[in-house]
Amino acid sequence: MKSFKVLVAGGGAGGCSVAAKFASLPKGAVGIIDPAETHYYQPMWTLVGGGMKSLKDSSKPMSQVLPKNAVWIKDSVASFEPRENVVSLRNGEKVQYEYLVVALGMKLEYNKIEGLPEAFETPGVCSNYSANYVDKTFRSLKDFKGGNAIFTFPNTLIKCPGAPQKIMYIADEYMRKHGVRNNAEIFYNSSLGVIFAVKKYADALWKVVEERNINVNLRHELIEVKPDSKEAVFRLLEKPEETRTFQYSMLHITPPMGPPDAVKNSSELCEETGYLDLNKFTLQHKRFPNVFGIGDCTNLPIPKTAAAVAAQGNVLYQNMKSVMENSESKERYDGYTSCPLVTGYSKCILAEFDYDLSPLETFPLNQARESRTAFHLKKDVLPTLYWELFLR
Ligand SMILES: Cc1cc2nc3c(=O)[nH]c(=O)nc-3n(C[C@H](O)[C@H](O)[C@H](O)COP(=O)(O)OP(=O)(O)OC[C@H]3O[C@@H](n4cnc5c(N)ncnc54)[C@H](O)[C@@H]3O)c2cc1C
Repeated sequence: MKSFKVLVAGGGAGGCSVAAKFASLPKGAVGIIDPAETHYYQPMWTLVGGGMKSLKDSSKPMSQVLPKNAVWIKDSVASFEPRENVVSLRNGEKVQYEYLVVALGMKLEYNKIEGLPEAFETPGVCSNYSANYVDKTFRSLKDFKGGNAIFTFPNTLIKCPGAPQKIMYIADEYMRKHGVRNNAEIFYNSSLGVIFAVKKYADALWKVVEERNINVNLRHELIEVKPDSKEAVFRLLEKPEETRTFQYSMLHITPPMGPPDAVKNSSELCEETGYLDLNKFTLQHKRFPNVFGIGDCTNLPIPKTAAAVAAQGNVLYQNMKSVMENSESKERYDGYTSCPLVTGYSKCILAEFDYDLSPLETFPLNQARESRTAFHLKKDVLPTLYWELFLR
């Protein structure tokens, strides 16, 4: 059986960046399990959907981003056996560890919406949330001549809860520039009861939707897409027995999401929601002290973003090192997360906050104002930081 000092399950933003922090361990001490050939910088997909970047810009071969001294196990985690310190792979092999980092991200569940994924084969139906469909967003925008453009938010936790509306503001500006906005009605149909969780940024976003004449329907959950009649059916969450049907010319779908099966099926590692059960400050598992977690697969009560992953990485690393030295986890994660709320082709509201949903801003100015500098940060600076610093 293969055996590692540190085994990392998942080579996405969280797994790859944590593995890099353990680069000082001897060659072969760190193993990373991930079946994917390609590593994606998913935050760029908002810009891909808006035609500002290509899917290729957001990707690199996994072999290039994983740390050189780590062993890449190109398979999927099938299950965890934390009492034996063992992970089982889909190919039937088992891998032993001294310390485990779980970083498996989230599972997209398009198939929970009736008519999907088949409707993606038909005009106007698109989604920035998957490498398979993100290119279709810009194509749908270019083909749009008028009618309803609908942007949805599902009735589950999702990664980057700002992204479902960012693409809407981009679409609005695109339609204005191309002379079709007067023929369009734009709808933001969200399962949530608020436009954004933090009041300061929510107030700013309400102003943006009013200025741009965008219709916001809260507590509307997309349950079915009917491509033949170009209809989208929403459940009214305040009256769950009732539905409301909208015609669409363009339908941008944010899918329901959930914890990855390997975590959800491991009753000893997950909490009742199926997410990895961590101490929210130390990022250490509540029952298995040699298990840590990071990113979207965890039960940390904060919006799931790559920015949060960046803040969690160092806390995890320091605490895991302490545990390796028979000491206690002392570092604390305060819940820092950030969401660059892109509001067009040159503007952005830079939301930053913590577990208390209190703004935790980096710059000495009001970050709830739309800003070109914040947009430049999102489009040009953060991708470089991600590839050159964060993953190394
Ligand atoms: C459209 C969009 C816009 C976004 N915008 C932003 C933004 O502006 N700012 C921001 O900070 N964040 C943004 N995010 C969120 C950000 O991308 C995620 O929060 C971040 O990638 C989470 O990192 P992670 O390591 O937890 O998961 P991921 O990066 O998703 O990595 C999970 C990894 O686990 C692997 N995996 C899955 N199952 C298994 C298995 N069974 N066995 C082994 N490996 C497995 C996958 O192949 C993947 O490599 C956005 C995301 C999307 C989709």
